[in-house]
Amino acid sequence: MPQAPGKSKKVPTKPAAGAAKTKTPKTNVSSPPPTGTVGSWEDDPESAVSLTVPIPDLSKPPLAFSFPAGGPPPAIYAHGTYEFRYWATAAALRRGADYWAKRVPLSQWHGGPSLQVVLEKDFDLDANYDRTALNFFYGPGVMGTVFTCESADVSCHEMGHAVLDAFKPQLWGFANKEAAAFHESFGDISALLSAIQIPSLRTAIVTANGGNVYTKSRLSRLAEQLGSALRAQDPDLAEVDCLRSAVNSFNYQDPATLPNTAAMSCLSSEPHSFSRIFTGAFFEILGVSLTAKAVTPEAPTEAELLTVADDLAGFLVQGIKCSPVVSNWYAHVAAKMVIAAQADPTYSSIARGVFVGRHILSLQCASSLLEISQVKSLEAAAEPATHEPLSIAGLPASQYGIDGMLFVEVASEPREFSVTSAGFNAEPVAPPSGTAAAKAFVDDLFMRGQIDYGTVVAPERWLVRNHKTKTHALVKVDGGARLERRFFNCGLCARGVSR
Ligand SMILES: [Zn+2]
Repeated sequence: MPQAPGKSKKVPTKPAAGAAKTKTPKTNVSSPPPTGTVGSWEDDPESAVSLTVPIPDLSKPPLAFSFPAGGPPPAIYAHGTYEFRYWATAAALRRGADYWAKRVPLSQWHGGPSLQVVLEKDFDLDANYDRTALNFFYGPGVMGTVFTCESADVSCHEMGHAVLDAFKPQLWGFANKEAAAFHESFGDISALLSAIQIPSLRTAIVTANGGNVYTKSRLSRLAEQLGSALRAQDPDLAEVDCLRSAVNSFNYQDPATLPNTAAMSCLSSEPHSFSRIFTGAFFEILGVSLTAKAVTPEAPTEAELLTVADDLAGFLVQGIKCSPVVSNWYAHVAAKMVIAAQADPTYSSIARGVFVGRHILSLQCASSLLEISQVKSLEAAAEPATHEPLSIAGLPASQYGIDGMLFVEVASEPREFSVTSAGFNAEPVAPPSGTAAAKAFVDDLFMRGQIDYGTVVAPERWLVRNHKTKTHALVKVDGGARLERRFFNCGLCARGVSR
């Protein structure tokens, strides 16, 4: 375990550099260490497998980072110190950004060539991406203060939001439950794929569990330390052994039929909860594909794991790029992934099998994908969707306390062919209209207390819950108000943490 900064219940209001009491001497601050390496974790402070990597170049284009000024010189620092966290975060973000920069590819972040990183923004068990920065927080953990930046799982998840925003910016303001959940899923997939870039972690994973990667492991368990900290606040806020698990048995359900929140042991339409359907499908495809592709199925090599993960990342990127922004977003990304994989029948069959098994694609849709590829070249079927801004729709808004309409971004891109998920009875689920999906999304935000009313609605008309995390805000415009996203966040301890 890391040397947490003590068990004192009093959490420092602003953690001091090197707050932990440690006898490890600091490296000479005037010159870089001759070794040219920094210390980090492979995945999460709770699994606590140390990793030493070459000094990350934070200014490396196209995806540079701006860390707090006056940072410590690169060196191997003691666990539990600010200096260790600084370089552990830097190492994880550099690894993840380098991975995506090659595969997407990207020329810069949504906001420009460099993305700000705030390591200790405030007291909370949270992290977020707000289009200008990755913000990390600190709060009470089981063994002392938890700094969310220290977990590679958390930092690469937040960076995943930024990567997806850079190449599919329409999803930022899209008023749609599946799109919001997909952003969370992509963050978790980003954490998984970034971890798989570490050779020692790959070796450990393929040698455990008889080579079966789709099983509970420290790879599948995401953000264990933050999960423990949240569970201590409220057992419903995290899964039993981590924040979220990529190994799960959640099948697609129409999010309009789900409660807007639930304990993490159940499925709800809350984005982090609903995200687990797609993440679970992706990780299952990874596990089944590795067994199918390995020369020795019961003993895949770490190199085979890397290759299969890379192939699937390519299909995912294609799937996202080529999907029109539509209300049943999960099914469209899955369908386009299947099309992207069609040149390789092994991948294609497994992707169809898993997506159908999890109801993300209906049986009818999965079979029609084969016919589509026969009448249309794969390139044409996988043609990138347009990147026009989304349409704006006005929702009746008196039930939200708003005078006039609430203007939101809705699905408007054309569908080229019928793509459907399946319901309980295996029958295709008719996708809702863009406006109906947007209304359901907005209803959830108000019911969860996630909207900052600002000055748009008189305070006596507000719905007030003890929910301090406001992911969205109302902005006054002619004829009513516009809904604006502020950030994507962890958000699970949305009422705030107890000191
Ligand atoms: Zn997130």
